[in-house]
Amino acid sequence: SKETLIVLYGGRSAEREVSVMSATNVVAAIDYDKFNVKTYFIRQNGDFIQGPRFNSQPSPEMKLLDEDSSADHEKIQPSAIYEEGAVVFPVLHGPMGEDGSIQGFLEIMKLAYVGPGILSAAATMDKILSKEIFSSLGIPQVPYVAIYPGQDFVKAEEEVNAKLNYPVFVKPANMGSSVGITKVDEAGELRSALDLASKYDDRIVVEEGVVNPHEVECAALGNSEVKITLPGEVANSNPSAFYDYDEKYNNNALTIDVPAKIAPELVEEIRHYAELAYKGVAGRGLSRCDFFVDAENNIYLNEINAIPGFTAFSMYPMLWENMGLSTTDLLTELVELAKEAFENRE
Ligand code: ATP
Ligand code: MG
Ligand code: MG
Ligand code: MG
Repeated sequence: SKETLIVLYGGRSAEREVSVMSATNVVAAIDYDKFNVKTYFIRQNGDFIQGPRFNSQPSPEMKLLDEDSSADHEKIQPSAIYEEGAVVFPVLHGPMGEDGSIQGFLEIMKLAYVGPGILSAAATMDKILSKEIFSSLGIPQVPYVAIYPGQDFVKAEEEVNAKLNYPVFVKPANMGSSVGITKVDEAGELRSALDLASKYDDRIVVEEGVVNPHEVECAALGNSEVKITLPGEVANSNPSAFYDYDEKYNNNALTIDVPAKIAPELVEEIRHYAELAYKGVAGRGLSRCDFFVDAENNIYLNEINAIPGFTAFSMYPMLWENMGLSTTDLLTELVELAKEAFENRE
């Protein structure tokens, strides 16, 4: 008999539209010989809405619920998603999805779920905390300044100007898809970037910019034993721009090169750092490890994304395709890993 996969998507964060694209791709790629799929859309206000169920491959025109089409639906209790033995894939990005909150809910519900647990999700969502973990592991990173809640921005600006070279990147500590991030070329533009980041989080990180970096990413898959893909690279037809939200999802300006066009001797070093970082943040199930490589072939770990984009044009599934693992088989493996992790907890 078939197993039930529950796809949770949407969510409260600024990345909810990306989540809809990711979930659509997941629902299309799942192996319907093995699974029936139930979908639940989480609205921006946090309401859970029951979406369509699929017992066979949906048509390519299939549209999942989104913020507009779910507006007149009755909300359900979050606990109503429970089904004994089901596995949940929280295809949710950003705060309230990738940060341990939904993972905690699923733990309490005693449901198996795909991807990192509470600790790993929370630690990797917070760019300040994760940098502290990576530095304790001796993994190279760009210099940065952390700005904590209540800190005076005048003092923060002084610290940035004393410690970092421009350009710098100003980021809300808890976010993704480049939401709230500004590239700042000179000191005079720093304050407005801090103000923007502070709209998303009261923890802010300012990083020294890597000039024209290769943006190299590895996919991790596994629980206590982890497999790391060969790296891929995000390339941009507009080399001066950074990968902001529009470049990622709207402009079609990004191309993905798999494998990455970097010096071969860097490949194993990057994979080694990816594995070290994944283990250091208690990685489980999956994650995407993002690096920069500069013109002198220095490697810097940028971040780990606990629940990476899973759209048809996202790096994570593409990296596995390159390793010979189809998205369909990748999803089956993720469900197996979720069940293994769940059994270990029970
Ligand atoms: P996502 O989760 O979608 O990968 P994010 O919001 O977590 O994105 P980052 O990956 O940290 O944000 O940064 C977004 C983009 O900004 C990077 O892909 C890169 O193009 C640029 N960028 C960020 N930090 C730096 C840096 N220190 N030097 C050079 N470019 C940077
Ligand atoms: Mg990120
Ligand atoms: Mg992300
Ligand atoms: Mg990134």
